Amino acid sequence: MASTTLDDARDESSVNPREEFAAFLESNKQWSDKVNQEDPNFLPELAKKQEPAILWIGCADSRVPETVILNGLPGDVFTTRNIANQFLPDDNSVQAILQYAVGVAHVRHIIVVGHTNCGGIISAYNAAYPIDEPTPYTYHKGLDASNTINSVDQWIAPLIQLAVSTPGLGTAEPGPERDRAVHELAIKNVERQVDALCSSHVVRSAWAHAHGPPGPNSPKLVGVHGCLYHLESGLLEDLKISRYRPSH
Ligand SMILES: [Zn+2]
Repeated sequence: MASTTLDDARDESSVNPREEFAAFLESNKQWSDKVNQEDPNFLPELAKKQEPAILWIGCADSRVPETVILNGLPGDVFTTRNIANQFLPDDNSVQAILQYAVGVAHVRHIIVVGHTNCGGIISAYNAAYPIDEPTPYTYHKGLDASNTINSVDQWIAPLIQLAVSTPGLGTAEPGPERDRAVHELAIKNVERQVDALCSSHVVRSAWAHAHGPPGPNSPKLVGVHGCLYHLESGLLEDLKISRYRPSH
């Protein structure tokens, strides 16, 4: 049988799981060979150090691969992704990543990236304003069928709270108005995470100890940005909420 490729693996009826896993490894080998042929020094040099310009806080959604959509290369983006791109104070993973990215990797940009048709956002909205409609994930009020704590529910709880507490977001019926409200919630969520980042000890400390003039034109000062990625076009929308070191 001819070797399975990643393209074959996308047609899940054509491969068994063992072949599918082998296809992932084969695809990686083909990529490695291609990169090493094009520039034999690139990966060996990159292995010595990383100097990413960006910390990307994005959604875990498979359709938003940060380095791919930035047309970038390994080494470009320090990354953390979770359901609905949240930066939560009690999430030690994202807090440690922020500390490392700013304090050690010296990123110059922190970008929070939400996206259209986000399952986490839709699920949170539907939990806040229930209707009888298929949804990517159904909120179970903290307990799943086996009566254990449900991790997804816990994770999206702040988004439900955001949906409920944001004026003008509540709609009871399916349709364009509800779609607009879900879109608005995705944007509000990015704004909330940008606010949280700018209030974090790491960012405030970086701004307080930075030298040189404040503002967006000062080199080596971290800026915090918010974007919305449009799955339908592949374009990043700048939400124009960038924040830089304040002038006082
Ligand atoms: Zn998402």
